[in-house]
Amino acid sequence: MLQNIKISDVANLPSRFGKFKVQAFKQGHKEHLAILREPFGDTPVVRVHSECLTGDALGSLKCDCGDQLAYALNMIEKEGGMVIYLRQEGRNIGLLNKINAYALQDKGFDTVAANHQLGFAADERTYEMVQFILAHYGIKKIRLLTNNPQKINAIEGVEIVERLPIVIDPNEHNENYLQVKKEQMGHLI
Ligand SMILES: [Zn+2]
Repeated sequence: MLQNIKISDVANLPSRFGKFKVQAFKQGHKEHLAILREPFGDTPVVRVHSECLTGDALGSLKCDCGDQLAYALNMIEKEGGMVIYLRQEGRNIGLLNKINAYALQDKGFDTVAANHQLGFAADERTYEMVQFILAHYGIKKIRLLTNNPQKINAIEGVEIVERLPIVIDPNEHNENYLQVKKEQMGHLI
């Protein structure tokens, strides 16, 4: 179990997506956020979303992160639950490396090959903070909103009773990216 985690108070966050509460969890220099929509019962819908500045904040069409985040926030507003927003930008290679990977993609590399070219695995993300946050709320069972079967195995310490898919229409820019996710990374899309 993780240690030396600082936890903020819970605050209201009304948003265009719904009436949320937020609570921050600080581990080292990384600050993560739980976005809560109550009531969520004993088997909440949970989305584990990793930070993607370009997709989440800039509306990038290179990936589907912004659409996935919006889908998840709309879903928890309806069903109750939480989005756990992990600050692991660029599948945890950081913003600078991600932009370098994008520059390689401009030269024709796909998303996996670009990461390899920079000396990283296709996916460097970790999920131990998820276990910590769910335990913090006393949650033992979840319905996990994901298309990524590896996430089902990576999230420990909690029973995943159901996998809920995220359905997003591709655009002309991310069609190839989504194809690579499906064929090389095993995503169920
Ligand atoms: Zn993204």
